[in-house]
Amino acid sequence: MQDTNPVHSGEASQTKELHSPETILLKDYRPKSIYKIPVTEIDKAKYPIIDMHSHPYARTAQQIEEWIKNMDEVGVQKTVILTMATGTEFDDIYRKYSKYPDRFEIWCGLDLSGYNKPGFGPAAVKELERCRQVGARGVGEIHDKGDGLVSGKSKAPGMHPDDTRMDALLERCAELGMPISLHVADPIWMYQRMDKTNDGLMNAYHWRLDNKPNIVSLSGMIDILDRTLTRHRRTTFIACHFANLDYDLARLGEMFERNPNLYADISARYAETAPIPRFASKFYEKYAERLVYGTDMGFEKPMYRVTFRILESLDEHFYEIEQFDYHWSLNGFGLSGETLKQVYHANATKLLAAHTDHPGDRTNKGNARGW
Ligand SMILES: [Zn+2]
Repeated sequence: MQDTNPVHSGEASQTKELHSPETILLKDYRPKSIYKIPVTEIDKAKYPIIDMHSHPYARTAQQIEEWIKNMDEVGVQKTVILTMATGTEFDDIYRKYSKYPDRFEIWCGLDLSGYNKPGFGPAAVKELERCRQVGARGVGEIHDKGDGLVSGKSKAPGMHPDDTRMDALLERCAELGMPISLHVADPIWMYQRMDKTNDGLMNAYHWRLDNKPNIVSLSGMIDILDRTLTRHRRTTFIACHFANLDYDLARLGEMFERNPNLYADISARYAETAPIPRFASKFYEKYAERLVYGTDMGFEKPMYRVTFRILESLDEHFYEIEQFDYHWSLNGFGLSGETLKQVYHANATKLLAAHTDHPGDRTNKGNARGW
């Protein structure tokens, strides 16, 4: 179009000179699919959705209203807000979103301050109980990208989730029926050399970890996650983003087999799995009971719709570079209705119901909200 526009003819001839594989930069590459094949437009998800991985993106009451409107239009029943916060910061977010108890769940962070002082534990547990009392139904998103746990503003360098210092907190989560959304490591490309062989270079460079030689490797973090799951059998963990094993889903499958207390969310790894639709869809069908839908990418309608296209359709070779930053094309998984129901809401419903019937849950009694 631009080439034929007389207003831009000067620019056009200038860009023409750049139209060579010698001069086009990878960051500017915007291929368009030429195939005459079906294009599926899915405005609304096939089944109701519980989004298990989002954040307090909406800051004002008006934005929250707008978000709910978008959720209605695309078919998201409920969104879990991972605040990562404790104290008054948590309370403030909770106050804003809890006006809509049917539409949002608000999860808290962990207070890790004092993690390196003797006696760490009781105060953190107390704050967890307080957040639960306020209304938090789960914990997240807690990060460990290899140099220790981070929960919002709380940092604990060198302390990983399998550390004995975390025992009291993680056990209390089980007693309170609070699942933990735990983010370990990052995608594999970020650990690899930033050169022409790096498959995910466009995104990897942004979030690179190859320049942090002292952190625990991706594989090492998966071992830590595995030990955490064994150590805290009663606690339910939701590994964010397929535990960053999107490049090695078979290993995640083995973890599911070994650890009944493990779930994984699929958030922000759509573009990472869409290049391998046959392998990925088989994985979804096999582990449908352990995967939960999530976004982690704001609250705009087109964002939700791309996720539906990938999960529901069998479309091939389509680009969403602006949404995901990768230069490759995507493919749909065409998941079965049964699998979609489980991933979209059935597993999440089970997880969110866990807090209602916990015999060891002292804070349940006399709670104003009646759960
Ligand atoms: Zn997140």
